[in-house]
Amino acid sequence: MTRVTTSSCGRFAPSPTGPLHFGSLIAALGSCLEAKARGGTWLVRIEDVDRPRCRPEYAAEILRTLEAFGFEWDGEVLVQSRRTARYREVLETLQRQGAVYPCGCTRAELAAASPGVDGAPVYPGTCREGLPPGKKPRAWRLRVSGAIDFVDLVQGPQHQDLAREVGDCVLLRADGLFAYQLAVVVDDADQGVDHVVRGADLIHSTGRQIFLQRLLGLPTPQYAHLPVAVDATGAKLSKQTKARPIEARDAPAALIAAARFLGLNPPASLCRATSAEFWRWAREHWSLARVPKQVSAPIPDNPRRHSA
Ligand code: GLU
Repeated sequence: MTRVTTSSCGRFAPSPTGPLHFGSLIAALGSCLEAKARGGTWLVRIEDVDRPRCRPEYAAEILRTLEAFGFEWDGEVLVQSRRTARYREVLETLQRQGAVYPCGCTRAELAAASPGVDGAPVYPGTCREGLPPGKKPRAWRLRVSGAIDFVDLVQGPQHQDLAREVGDCVLLRADGLFAYQLAVVVDDADQGVDHVVRGADLIHSTGRQIFLQRLLGLPTPQYAHLPVAVDATGAKLSKQTKARPIEARDAPAALIAAARFLGLNPPASLCRATSAEFWRWAREHWSLARVPKQVSAPIPDNPRRHSA
């Protein structure tokens, strides 16, 4: 694994559950421009811990599209599905600390629990003090407590009461796979990532990630959560909502649309420019301070059509 040791390091961490779409392009562009503005390195990490939902061909396609758009990442691409041994080691550390506990509850048993900030049920604590008689261990949960405060570089001050708003979250799933929350914390630390620029749909995960970093004695990166792109119905653009994939022939128009979304004001002449010219212009004009917290107008479903 490449451990990059320059002073600053950012990353883009797509999950290969489908091809790159406009929403992921925004995260890629914002994280890359911020890393370059800091004079740092920019990594790409394939987050495929949720193996049933991920496909290697999508990972290859995402990397090809990034390349076609002129993204240049540093070092090797880290692939989470090859990191199981490392995640296990960290889980064992948490087990020794008593920070996690086995849980025997099924999804159906938790369906009635009230939803937390991300819509998932807040765990009611059934197995927190030990497995009740008749229950067999299925998953491992993190014992959360207290509140987390942090200042997001785009969204401003954040406060989260972990027990009330999130609850004890799963770190090792019943199907034996490690959860995103554990993998992302371990990888950001192991790769020396000191600033995380990603979509605001992940801001609710940040509290538990900071909680885990503190338990493990890991540094907390700076966070910047970008506005989320929505479709014409107001739904977040995602592979689940069948967002249109972007392709090499969409560059540089899609890059220009993404730059506008992030508060940049590219001149009309850039629409006829090459991707290389776009990158020169964007690197010169990028400023995290200009990124809006939210974008109210729905983004175009076809950036090529709307970029002129
Ligand atoms: N893998 C996540 C996604 O594709 C991003 C996680 C992160 O940036 O922390 O939505």
